Amino acid sequence: MVYQPLVDLQSGKLVSVEALLRWRNERGDIISPADFIPVAEETGLIVPIGEWVLQEACLQAVRWRQQGVELQMAVNLSARQFRDRALASLIKHTLEVSQLPPECLKLEITETAVMENSLEAATILQELKSLGVGIAIDDFGTGYSSLAYLRRFPINQLKIDQSFIHEMLVHEDSAAIVRSVISLAKALQLQTVAEGVETEAQRDFLRAAGCELMQGYLYSRPVDPVNIVGMVNGDSLAS
Ligand code: C2E
Ligand code: CA
Ligand code: CA
Repeated sequence: MVYQPLVDLQSGKLVSVEALLRWRNERGDIISPADFIPVAEETGLIVPIGEWVLQEACLQAVRWRQQGVELQMAVNLSARQFRDRALASLIKHTLEVSQLPPECLKLEITETAVMENSLEAATILQELKSLGVGIAIDDFGTGYSSLAYLRRFPINQLKIDQSFIHEMLVHEDSAAIVRSVISLAKALQLQTVAEGVETEAQRDFLRAAGCELMQGYLYSRPVDPVNIVGMVNGDSLAS
């Protein structure tokens, strides 16, 4: 597992991290989750992998807390995990075993995964929410969007998809989408995260547009846990 910081655009402070999975094959090459997660979804292996990810991320968050580093931990859930009836009890169990306070965990679910299960989604999300964890909608803007659900679903955060962030200073329509998502989120009292922020110009645009958090190579790539402690303790990069 590697961890990528989410930074407050106003204060420049690291407030949260996203747990991202890596797989090193026998030859020592790193395989991207974009390649192996879809296969794990198809075969069902995502279920045990997902359990391990959740447990490892919670334990890591607790290890940091023991070192005085308090960060919210975001964990990705795949569509199949989201449909899994045992999901809420798995999360409850993992929180209990790891002793991580529920509000320190945030679950990231893609817009597509939520909409694929739109009938049950409200119930599942409510069940998760009642455990006290946060919920983020990932890759927002790329799925089939019914804006009505934003109001109905108990979510905390919208993560604007990287494609809009990458294009927003080149294409005026992407800039318009980013601004609209930020103001929509504000009106609904949801926090916004911009993903894939790579340049200072993108950061400045987002700050001016009122986006709250950013994540991207500008601040840091996903890194090993020890590097996160270093960043919190001050030896951080661009803010
Ligand atoms: P995601 O959840 O949208 O994660 C963000 C991806 O964007 C990560 O890729 C991250 O390394 C990358 N990224 C972050 N900042 C930048 C940037 O400034 N520029 C660019 N070009 N990329 C940036 P990664 O780690 O390869 O993960 C890809 C996807 O695989 C994730 O997309 C997520 O959908 C999935 N994934 C990763 N770990 C897990 C996991 O533990 N469980 C599940 N279910 N899915 C995972
Ligand atoms: Ca994510
Ligand atoms: Ca994303």
